[in-house]
Amino acid sequence: MSKSNTTGMDHEDFRRCGKDMVDFIADYLTNISERRVTPEVEPGYLRPMLPRNAPEKGESWEDIMKDVERAIMPGITHWQHPRFHAYFPAGNSYPSILAEMLSSGLGIVGFSWAASPACTELEPITLDWLGRMMSLPACFLPFNPAHDNEPEISIANTDCDSQHSGGGALLGSASESILVAMLAARTNKMKSKRLEKPSIEDGQILSKLVCYTSKLAHSCVEKAGLIAMVKVRQLAVDEHYSLRGKTLDECIQADKQKGLIPFFVCGTLGTTSCCSLDNFEELGQICRRENLWFHVDGAYAGAALICNEFQYLIKGFEYVDSFNTNPNKWLLINFDCSCFWVRDKCAVINAMSVDPLYLQHKHAEKATDLRHWGIALSRRFRSLKLWFTIRSYGVEGLQHYIREHCRLAKVFASLINEDDRFEIIGDVVFGLVCFRLKGKNKLTQKLLLCLNDSGQIHVIPSMVNEIFFIRFAICAKDACEYDMHIAFQIIQTHADGILFEYQKTTSSTSILKSLS
Ligand SMILES: *Cc1c(COP(=O)(O)O)cnc(C)c1O
Repeated sequence: MSKSNTTGMDHEDFRRCGKDMVDFIADYLTNISERRVTPEVEPGYLRPMLPRNAPEKGESWEDIMKDVERAIMPGITHWQHPRFHAYFPAGNSYPSILAEMLSSGLGIVGFSWAASPACTELEPITLDWLGRMMSLPACFLPFNPAHDNEPEISIANTDCDSQHSGGGALLGSASESILVAMLAARTNKMKSKRLEKPSIEDGQILSKLVCYTSKLAHSCVEKAGLIAMVKVRQLAVDEHYSLRGKTLDECIQADKQKGLIPFFVCGTLGTTSCCSLDNFEELGQICRRENLWFHVDGAYAGAALICNEFQYLIKGFEYVDSFNTNPNKWLLINFDCSCFWVRDKCAVINAMSVDPLYLQHKHAEKATDLRHWGIALSRRFRSLKLWFTIRSYGVEGLQHYIREHCRLAKVFASLINEDDRFEIIGDVVFGLVCFRLKGKNKLTQKLLLCLNDSGQIHVIPSMVNEIFFIRFAICAKDACEYDMHIAFQIIQTHADGILFEYQKTTSSTSILKSLS
């Protein structure tokens, strides 16, 4: 059927094309390994392939899908490909895709309880499920077992003196979670400084505020500081790439000497560079003593907390004021889905809330309006993805997924270790292995280029303390041992070529030196 009209699709078209689309996606994901991992296009490839102007008349579904194959697919980086080992996983699973479809189909905008009660109410319930799966401290879980008999709706906007005043919400990204935490901490600190000295101007306080994080923290901490207009100290890490209390304390004391005002510390559970862990207990004790807001960013590795054997990571969380993790990285949920928990939700609401008449509603006293938790007013029905995925897999299914990724990382690391031309950087704890060719950085740089140019595999680099290395992340949902062996073979083959070239151009003595 070809159609040229002004009404887009009707209900019957949608039934037909929707089923087509489901088939298209299932075919794509079934046959994905036949493709190159990365596309071969150059920047600007798409413009000459598409018309200059939007079509005057509506086009048919068939024509649009033809162009998906012709113009879009050649420019796709296949994040779900079994040879995709770059960044961190882009979570995805069929239940999550279907929940996303339902969310689109409902077409709601859930900024307040009244704007869609189910959207507002499912979100804290799923956050609570996940928080309990991770055994987060009770202060983050307003519906904790001790209060199971209380009506859950009592967690209201105005309920700021409630004894269980923590909670969680879904935001669009870890960057947003960290910014919101920082803004809440900033508002808190400015308020207490004004109480100490009522004549002081906000601008005077602002110019003195300092936050602290490790130099391996994600760049979004620096960006949050830029937006919040506060100083950010990126502190040195120890030999395990961990930010330690002593380093933090020394910097805080030096800043206080200068008349500056420390207010916020961001620790990382699983750095992007090499998945290292800061020492939350040491950092937390200092935050408690100095009255600083303590945030922990567990964008990727936080998901591991759902497995008992990773519960040791939660040590020091009794000091944590807010925590974020992205199920859209490592919990099979497609982008976007970033969980943000806070000990005192009023601190967030105080920092973020405005209340114009057109958004007020008669249930405001009784229900949480999630618009007060983030920057945007409008909110997607994201919790459907969590709800569908957690229910489809069950806690056990999700634990199995995490454990498989961690196991496969160890399998890959042992292959690397068996070849003495390579070395591992950092500890292999989660689904990430950092490795390099022994010797000069340029060998590993060359290897990285060759691997990515080949289109057989996709990896990205990182650099810590001047050491250049390749990050190998287990990403594919159904990754298996075979994938580890294939990836290692590809890496070995390219390493053979590079070392052979290198030997040709260097005298044997200098190789020995550079390899030692
Ligand atoms: C990926 C990542 C981020 C950024 O996540 P967004 O959701 O894209 O903002 C922040 N912190 C860590 C540790 C990450 O791995």
